[in-house]
Amino acid sequence: MNLLIMGPPGAGKGTQSERLVKEFNIPHISTGDMLREAVKQGTEMGKKAKEYMDKGQLVPDEVIIGVVKERLMQPDCERGFLLDGFPRTVAQAEALDKLLLEMGRKLDAVINVSVPREKIVARLTGRRVCKVCGATYHIVNNPPKVEGKCDKCGGELYQRSDDTEETVNKRLDVYEAQTQPLIEYYQAKGLLVNIDGDQPIDKVFADIMAALKK
Ligand SMILES: [Zn+2]
Repeated sequence: MNLLIMGPPGAGKGTQSERLVKEFNIPHISTGDMLREAVKQGTEMGKKAKEYMDKGQLVPDEVIIGVVKERLMQPDCERGFLLDGFPRTVAQAEALDKLLLEMGRKLDAVINVSVPREKIVARLTGRRVCKVCGATYHIVNNPPKVEGKCDKCGGELYQRSDDTEETVNKRLDVYEAQTQPLIEYYQAKGLLVNIDGDQPIDKVFADIMAALKK
């Protein structure tokens, strides 16, 4: 299975990704991890990427594509892969198609997990983190025994600045503006699988599996 997973922050993409890679025994390839790994291993493309990162510049598409290529050529990708966080733009999607074609492969499906915005806002703004040990809670789904205090160490719980309503809404605006063209691109290719992420985790996964079997 050659898969791509998309979904806004807070849609549960991470949890579904973990299950998919287990189910199909394929590697989970997220852009951030992949870049860090290439830099660490000092691959040809990793060295190029490092030059940009050291200067605090964005790594250009051609280098990112090169890193993706190096990663997809590794033996653990023979059975397939789950791409996450790449491509981000239509230009990158086109470059990925070209690369896969050269490798004699293609994407089997693009899984798009969506959740209504107000639900995502509720999920993300309810998150609380312990100042001392970093344990995470949710005021509704996973509340601490004593409000504002960590169960594990008694530390004070706080809301990260990333998790305020204003920031979450801004992140979602950016996400939507970036990914809408990509969604249309894969829709036109008949690869897009829309999944309702506003359901229990097991049901979301069952829906994904059912859609992939088609
Ligand atoms: Zn704690």
